[in-house]
Amino acid sequence: MKSFKEIICSKCKNPVPIQDIKYVQDKKESPRILCSSCREEKKENVSRVLKKQSENPKKSYHCLRCTYDFKVNPSKADINCPYCGKSDRIKENKIVPIDAILKDS
Ligand SMILES: [Zn+2]
Ligand SMILES: [Zn+2]
Repeated sequence: MKSFKEIICSKCKNPVPIQDIKYVQDKKESPRILCSSCREEKKENVSRVLKKQSENPKKSYHCLRCTYDFKVNPSKADINCPYCGKSDRIKENKIVPIDAILKDS
């Protein structure tokens, strides 16, 4: 019978059985040893970010003060013109089709 081995997860610092461990290679970081629950957490975070981005596509706005067109995430409470910093003369550009915005970004 094989001996039961445990490895310390590099995230939660808990000893976890070796069969529950995987090496995770991030783009910038060196490989990390993660247990299954930490891997699940990681996956969840990524999908949540992706979902958030697709639910809130940037909308096109136009500032009447400086006739400046810009795109901003409409989930922000106040939309300010990046050019003059004011929010009182902002108009939403509704004529722009959604797929044009997506292609453009
Ligand atoms: Zn862990
Ligand atoms: Zn402006």
